[in-house]
Amino acid sequence: MNKERKLIIAGNWKMNKTVAEALHLVRGLKIELAAVKEVDIVVCPPFTALSEVSKAVMDSILRLGAQNMSEHNFGAFTGEIAAGMLKEFSVRYVILGHSERRQLYKETSELVAQKTRAAHAASLKPIVCVGETLQEREAGQMERVLDAQVRHSLDGLTAPQMEDTIIAYEPVWAIGTGKNATTTQAQEAHAFIRGLIATLFDATVARHVRIQYGGSVKPANARELMSQPDVDGALVGGASLDARNFCDIIKNSI
Ligand code: PEP
Repeated sequence: MNKERKLIIAGNWKMNKTVAEALHLVRGLKIELAAVKEVDIVVCPPFTALSEVSKAVMDSILRLGAQNMSEHNFGAFTGEIAAGMLKEFSVRYVILGHSERRQLYKETSELVAQKTRAAHAASLKPIVCVGETLQEREAGQMERVLDAQVRHSLDGLTAPQMEDTIIAYEPVWAIGTGKNATTTQAQEAHAFIRGLIATLFDATVARHVRIQYGGSVKPANARELMSQPDVDGALVGGASLDARNFCDIIKNSI
């Protein structure tokens, strides 16, 4: 598939996999995906597996991501993890503002922006998630919701930082439901987000920024979704827990 931007496909393992299970999965991916050059491939294990997975992916094309981080660099923030701590394990990417964090832990776009700026300050590449709920979509509010989330979650970034930020469009109604957005719905939302980036930054930044689709991506729908001009990769939840499925998503996307 000839794309304007290099695809980036990331697996969000969420709160799954012991260290032993994580190593088993990543060893399978390393072998299967060794020859893939066309896609940036990222695995995002739970914090507890970062150390071992980091060693396991060292000599491979797989890159390491975390699922969250603090907006602070250090201090009395019980239970939090700072960007500098992630860097100790060669983490390069960090998922921020996932809808589960927004909904279950009440993370606001303002907090996501603080984390996004902290990630860049530590030279981590943030994957910033945005997306509307089913209720919002059905009420015709998708664009209003995406506009507010994008605008506020990326507040304060410089143009080079924005180019180095990945946006994940993840309609909440498609996450873990088996119900993916149609290619038309995904393309419409991605084009809207890219247009907004052009307004907030400029056309060059908008042309360079990569926008992933997330929400029930599977081997069977990956090719069609990735064929859309503004879809530059995927953030994969459930299907990334199984080596066969994750590899097939990547191979079907090329
Ligand atoms: C996600 O949680 O980021 C996600 C896209 O999940 P799933 O692929 O399981 O829908």
